[in-house]
Amino acid sequence: MRFDTRLVHGGAPRPGPHGDVVAPVHLSSTFDRDAQDEPRWFYSRGENPTREELEGCLAALEDAAGALAFTSGQAAAAAVLSLIPAGRPVLAERDVYGGTTDLLAEIAGRGTPVRRADLTDPAEVIAALAARPAPALVWLETPTNPLLGIVDIAGVVAAARRVGALVAVDNTLAGPVLQQPLALGCDLTVQSTAKSVAGHLDVLGGAVTTRHAELLTRLHRHRTVHGSAPGAQDCYLVLRGLRTLALRVRRQSDSARVLAHRLAEHPAVDEVLHPDLPGHPGHAVARRQMAAGGPVLGFRTAAGDRLLPELDLVANAVSLGGVRSLATVPAFTTHRGDPDAAGRGIGPGLIRLSVGIEDPVDLAEDLEAALARCAPARPTARDRS
Ligand SMILES: *Cc1c(COP(=O)(O)O)cnc(C)c1O
Repeated sequence: MRFDTRLVHGGAPRPGPHGDVVAPVHLSSTFDRDAQDEPRWFYSRGENPTREELEGCLAALEDAAGALAFTSGQAAAAAVLSLIPAGRPVLAERDVYGGTTDLLAEIAGRGTPVRRADLTDPAEVIAALAARPAPALVWLETPTNPLLGIVDIAGVVAAARRVGALVAVDNTLAGPVLQQPLALGCDLTVQSTAKSVAGHLDVLGGAVTTRHAELLTRLHRHRTVHGSAPGAQDCYLVLRGLRTLALRVRRQSDSARVLAHRLAEHPAVDEVLHPDLPGHPGHAVARRQMAAGGPVLGFRTAAGDRLLPELDLVANAVSLGGVRSLATVPAFTTHRGDPDAAGRGIGPGLIRLSVGIEDPVDLAEDLEAALARCAPARPTARDRS
């Protein structure tokens, strides 16, 4: 089955007594073992049929050994970090989602050495992996959030193999349609399914996929013990969104590229960050490992957060990948608690824009009108006379 067909048919229900063509929502929290031919379902904290439909589809998309759904991306990331043996270091990309930095600070406080490096720079990858003791896990995010840096996944995997480290990729910004980290050799993919996968800004969720059956078993145990499995209704909503993921992210990527070029030419915009722009430092790697640059772009403008209330169509809100366009100033929201954000250029003038599925011309007009309203008034010929 080709990819777009797997999106629609992956994890599809076996035809039941009613001939359902869509997986029903299995709300039962507990299961009568006497009523099952081979008792497989026991208690929904451990396993639930609707959750398994979603996981079957996510695994099929990446040819994974399996997938596990979580209550949120944070819960999925916490499960992956639980795989690190006590006292062994983790090496993490410096520019990551703010919540990931919070999780890394937590495990550091409990005795896991955490090293950070700019893994978009191959020389830093080599140097960081040469430090001893070698890391047990390398944590990447690409494109990075919010600077849209690109990490060469296959390059990091090759270097990590030499020191025996596992590689996990937070694939939230690209998602499985645009980027396939497992196919590029990484061990685990983590994502917030609340973003592009569910896509409608109405449900929370996370997921992990892996190539290793043994890791899947350990992650499943972690999820059951910690109680971080999502309920059936949320799994149903995530799976419903997933069916249309390819249509949405291709459209969003096309629109993001159009807006990136248009903003790059705008006099009130100092810089635009998007991997599809030829001047982007990660452009060549992005073309190799991504099908398109994705729905998120960044831009710098002196207007800063004064711009956000001036936007009509674009909501002033965090999150990304949804059908509706959203903009935020990460320095004041997602990266507020990140101690070295300012040093990396995440300041009040950087706006992160998640492009929705609206008509891109309407979005461009909304942005340009807002920029015009924020621009400092220039003296006109009449004022000067
Ligand atoms: C949102 C997000 C997360 C966290 O996911 P939640 O579902 O909000 O817990 C992790 N990584 C990235 C890149 C994100 O955008």
